Amino acid sequence: MGVPSLGCGCVVCTSDDPHDKRMRPSIALRWPCPPGVELPVAAPKVRKGELPFPAPPDPNAAPCERVVLVDTGPDFRSQALRAGIRRVDAVFYTHSHADHILGLDDLRPLSFATYKQTGPIPLYATPETRAVLENIYHYTFSADSKYANKARVMLHDASAGAQVAEVHVTPIPVLHGTLPITGYRFGNVAYMTDVSTIPEMSFRLLEGLDLLIVSALRHVPHPSHATVDQAVRWANRIGAKQTLFTHISHDLGHAETNARLPEGIALAYDGQTIPVKLA
Ligand SMILES: [Zn+2]
Ligand SMILES: [Zn+2]
Repeated sequence: MGVPSLGCGCVVCTSDDPHDKRMRPSIALRWPCPPGVELPVAAPKVRKGELPFPAPPDPNAAPCERVVLVDTGPDFRSQALRAGIRRVDAVFYTHSHADHILGLDDLRPLSFATYKQTGPIPLYATPETRAVLENIYHYTFSADSKYANKARVMLHDASAGAQVAEVHVTPIPVLHGTLPITGYRFGNVAYMTDVSTIPEMSFRLLEGLDLLIVSALRHVPHPSHATVDQAVRWANRIGAKQTLFTHISHDLGHAETNARLPEGIALAYDGQTIPVKLA
């Protein structure tokens, strides 16, 4: 729901601590291209009297950067502006609930630029998630769509994993209540949100992690989300060097909850940047 939660006056929703302001969960993985690799420069088509689009290159920008997103929720536009995201190489969807997909349309301006460089942005999803995306964004995905300004994106099956430039992506099947959803592993980093059950098979895909990001909604049990205690048990079993909790409700104050978590485990916060090894 995001924090503050609409209409709520609880201590966390009214807290002055910026760590208690939470947009809907998503992550961006960003890495520089290897030396010598340059993305083709898009040649903007400019009609007389119009400003060039995409904007002229930023002279201070890294010469070539890769950006991969997990989910595009309703806050995607604000998050991308805050993080200064200028291109997207791929998006991996965890599942089809509103808080994870409703920013898809805001990929449009980024997709126009990316399309000219490398083609449509690949969106990876399971067949179930893909069916919902095709239904909600019919005007984007339907072959009959006549909408000229639709996002330049293309759906791909996430089930077999994917390679994005230098980084290999492995899907991790988990459950959100009774709904099968997908976590992802990138090198020694794994991101699993909205999890209530991790199947035994999936623990094998989580060995040797430097960083685990997993959801922990609140202390009170919920039918389709893990409690903090459950997430701590998973973190201890998986044994990543560092574990961060995400998808946090207004039941959990940042400072107060962190003070009680074991060493190596903490609540994540909006805008947090973590250096990791992706390949
Ligand atoms: Zn509240
Ligand atoms: Zn969610």
